[in-house]
Amino acid sequence: MSLPPLEINLKSLSKAQLLEQIVKWGEPKYRAAQIWSWLYQKGITEIDQMTNLSQSFRQMLKTQTWISKAQLKDQIQSEVDRSTKFLFRVAGGEDVETVLMPDGNRLTVCLSSQIGCAMDCAFCATGQMGFFRNLPVDGVVDQFLAIQTKLQENTDEYIRQTKFNNKRKITNVVFMGMGEPLANYQQVVSAIRILTDPDGINLSGRRITVSTVGLAPRIQQLAEEGLGCKLALSLNATTDEIRTRLMPINHRYPIREIMSAVRFWVETTGMPVTFEYVMIRGLNDSLVDAERLCRLVQNIPCKINLIPFNEIEGSDLHRPEERRVERFHRILTQHHRVAPVRYSKGRDIAAACGQLRTIYDQAGTRLSINPVPS
Ligand code: SF4
Repeated sequence: MSLPPLEINLKSLSKAQLLEQIVKWGEPKYRAAQIWSWLYQKGITEIDQMTNLSQSFRQMLKTQTWISKAQLKDQIQSEVDRSTKFLFRVAGGEDVETVLMPDGNRLTVCLSSQIGCAMDCAFCATGQMGFFRNLPVDGVVDQFLAIQTKLQENTDEYIRQTKFNNKRKITNVVFMGMGEPLANYQQVVSAIRILTDPDGINLSGRRITVSTVGLAPRIQQLAEEGLGCKLALSLNATTDEIRTRLMPINHRYPIREIMSAVRFWVETTGMPVTFEYVMIRGLNDSLVDAERLCRLVQNIPCKINLIPFNEIEGSDLHRPEERRVERFHRILTQHHRVAPVRYSKGRDIAAACGQLRTIYDQAGTRLSINPVPS
């Protein structure tokens, strides 16, 4: 029997791959569930911590496998709403930003799926970074595990001050950090399988939201995966002209095509969709836009989130006046389920929607996760 290659990161394997490996190692199949539970429910990072595995098996694992973890490099907490932005170095040496947002009894973590982003949305600081790399599945899940471990250890002064919820457990996940999750499709789907697996992290799919710019074929593919997760579509405009200006991907997948993918999502999953609408002064915030938006989403079971633009350095886009936002909101509420206007969390630490950006000097050294003055 040929031996598997050395140095397998256990967290890079899907459950089926782990099972296959266990069989190759000549161990009983139930070991897969045991290892899965150590990795994802107990959050261990050393093979010797898996105490229900025999010494000899652990020894063998140590010669052939390892366990990745996200190393905390920096963190900063909002004075306004206690959101916390973390900078982690994940396996492969990548630096990635993750945000934890407390809201009543909810503790939502906003995960990044890529280093930078290729989508180049005009309102987004991550887009200004350009695209570096896709994160592997372990790079995505390790962000979650590092924060979960921090919450449970309760040794972090920031987190103790904040108190969050009594359970100190992450309750919700949104893929709204750095990157377009559906452009890193396979790794994000694998991460959601780990997040929802009963032997894994065991979150309900309904507590996980994938937010996309509208990669129409991927939306349809995701609908057919049966993951039970929720979909948010970053719409942001009611005409192709404005949307293409704000989101160049609209050239490839114009509004009509995206809306048809969204209808497919609703029909296939039976779940409503959330439309995210970042409001930008003078571009998409008129009453005509509000009326057009109502028509666009007509007959689609949905919720609409209005997000007044969070200003970023290097952009000439501006936030609309509050009364304009409220007027827009009022029109929508006459016809649709609209959430209260979302004044994003973490604005003072540049952790709000579209503000994540790792700053590098010319030699490529990361300088700071501190807020970019706008
Ligand atoms: S909004 Fe999302 S998809 Fe667009 S550039 Fe930013 S990270 Fe990428």
